Amino acid sequence: MKILTVISGKGGTGKTSLVASFASLVPDRLVLVDGDVDAANLSLITGAREFESHDFSASKVAVVNPETCNSCGLCLELCRFQAVAGDFSIDPVACEGCSFCAFACPREAIEMQEKVSGRWFVSRTPYGALVHARLGIAEENSGKLVTIVRNKGQELAKASGKDYLLIDGPPGIGCPVIAALSGADAALIIAEPTIPGLHDLERILSVCRHFGITAAVCINRYDLGPEQSKSIEAYCLKEGLVMVGKIPFDRAFVDSMVQGIAVTEYTGGALLNRISGVWDHFLNVAEQLSG
Ligand code: SF4
Ligand code: SF4
Repeated sequence: MKILTVISGKGGTGKTSLVASFASLVPDRLVLVDGDVDAANLSLITGAREFESHDFSASKVAVVNPETCNSCGLCLELCRFQAVAGDFSIDPVACEGCSFCAFACPREAIEMQEKVSGRWFVSRTPYGALVHARLGIAEENSGKLVTIVRNKGQELAKASGKDYLLIDGPPGIGCPVIAALSGADAALIIAEPTIPGLHDLERILSVCRHFGITAAVCINRYDLGPEQSKSIEAYCLKEGLVMVGKIPFDRAFVDSMVQGIAVTEYTGGALLNRISGVWDHFLNVAEQLSG
């Protein structure tokens, strides 16, 4: 099984639409993972139906047992985060889960409990299982949640003998991206033909290289910035990066998203051929260069 991660240096490059399209080209041969847990939307484009869900807990919160507490005030005095109220109850939003109060409480009246910060799901799509998640608003630890969905996807793909684990990576270059790239056989970088687009490509490429992951590049909406597209192509040539294709802007991407289907199922012809060509080329790169 090949683990393939689709990434971009920033959001809004059309990455998720392309992941859904690639999945539609190899139905029943893959498991999908949506690694963008802060703004997951692969489930919307693939018409996913949820059949399993789990709490995600990455931190703890202090909870006072009022029956044991004798109102000595020590916790209020010690908490550096002003999470303890005057009545010695604890504000779960302000609590950082450091456990200091629980250790210090002379009455052992404080318990550290798991804090649910999100949920993760396994859903059915027309192309295969999709593992995705939703992180609570203002919650952190999205890297840990990405690792959970990625590992679950890998477990499902292995158990069901699939050919590919296809991961829609989060935008940026932070910890969640590294979690989505972990163990990947190859990464497909979706670049956009803008001036910042080249800089984003350079940044995400440096992450791939740092972790020794084979990367290929596809320019999306290349015709909206012909000069910048040329600059990206020149950069790829200079860096020895394989350009697996260029996809033009097409209104069908938006229309298919509104309908909740992959663009490859919404339209055929030249666009389908382009996307199919990118996928095939990328698979070849993954086969040949990742070993
Ligand atoms: S330290 Fe313990 S006993 Fe004292 S106020 Fe806090 S919870 Fe109550
Ligand atoms: S666990 Fe830490 S942050 Fe939370 S109430 Fe106790 S001392 Fe304050």
